[in-house]
Amino acid sequence: MSRSATSDLLIRNVRDARGGLVDILCVDGRIRTIGAAVAETSHCAKFDGCGELALPGLVEAHTHLGYSMLGLPWWRNEVGPRLIDKIENERHEIRRLGIDPRLQARRQIIHCAELGSTHVRGHVAIDTDVGLWAVEGVLAARAETLGIANVQIVAFPQSGLLTRPGTLELMDRALAAGADVVGGLDPAGIDRDPKGHVDAIFALAQKHGKPIDIHLHETAELGAFSAELIIERTRTLGMHGKVTISHAFFLGMTDLGYADRLAADLAEANISIMTTGPSGRPCPDVKKLRAMGVVVCSGSDGVRDMWSPYASGDMLERAMLVGLRNNFRRDDEIAEAFEVCTQGGAAALGCSGYGLREGCVADIVLVSAETLAEAVVAHPKRALVVKAGRVIARDGRLAEDALAPQP
Ligand SMILES: [Zn+2]
Repeated sequence: MSRSATSDLLIRNVRDARGGLVDILCVDGRIRTIGAAVAETSHCAKFDGCGELALPGLVEAHTHLGYSMLGLPWWRNEVGPRLIDKIENERHEIRRLGIDPRLQARRQIIHCAELGSTHVRGHVAIDTDVGLWAVEGVLAARAETLGIANVQIVAFPQSGLLTRPGTLELMDRALAAGADVVGGLDPAGIDRDPKGHVDAIFALAQKHGKPIDIHLHETAELGAFSAELIIERTRTLGMHGKVTISHAFFLGMTDLGYADRLAADLAEANISIMTTGPSGRPCPDVKKLRAMGVVVCSGSDGVRDMWSPYASGDMLERAMLVGLRNNFRRDDEIAEAFEVCTQGGAAALGCSGYGLREGCVADIVLVSAETLAEAVVAHPKRALVVKAGRVIARDGRLAEDALAPQP
């Protein structure tokens, strides 16, 4: 196959979600036509899909950028059990090992793109020790990888916000410098000032006109209380559709008698829930939340980092893990887990023009599978990844010209 950066792209002979064989014509970065025997345009690169299944670009809606150990020697994890142990360990080890956030974020963004994630939301640590060092590195990595994935940067108060005076000002500067989302972290459990924390992050979001994505590990009534504060501020400030609660373990605690009422309030305020489908922690009920109208998305969380060695960064594999954790067995249930890792993420991240339909941005992934359910269960190598009409990876490897400057 030959192509240039300016050519149209015709992918012939791919399987759609209903099992039929179609061609997909991409023009000016968008899907122009999906159908049988589509006519090629005059400047058209061609690719034979060989009957592989076509998927929309995958959406990595929650990872951490800058501190991954991808590409580095195995790091032996001997971290203590508390959240604060993990926070302090990482802050210490990143310095000791001389981790370069720009290089590690670049590696991770490329890794995500090779796995078909065309949209990535990455939380980047800000604290009064490292200042904006990690954010500046990840901003540079994003600039170096433009064109292979849309990367949103969350200004994330990894070590607490109000407990470490000066952090709020650093977040303010990070947003002015190009961060896209206001992060937050356990208003009660870490900051021990739930109202103060929630007030601070919403004020920052209002000042910069940015969305919010808050880590909420707090369980049971404590987590529910923090969520109620978030729901109340979202409604009062009219930030419907601009707030994500990540993890939300409290929603998975069946002895919390008012989880359904909270879910209804989340749906009404259009607050998204991000779940990794965690093992060993309470997991929000994906099917119930979606049935109640809550947007549910998913992410890898840390990929090969000092918090956990397990996540591969593969959002098809993540769909499998979400399905496993939710006891999904039927094909239509597994398709729900897939939607969490695609449309759900796109809705939570506010991606415009997303989808495998005519007129949408041409973010397309081909895999060797008969059906969506097989793609999730087997999560085979990505045969082709197309970002905005450009081939950026083949057979799981970045294309040679994928990072070349675009005209
Ligand atoms: Zn996280």
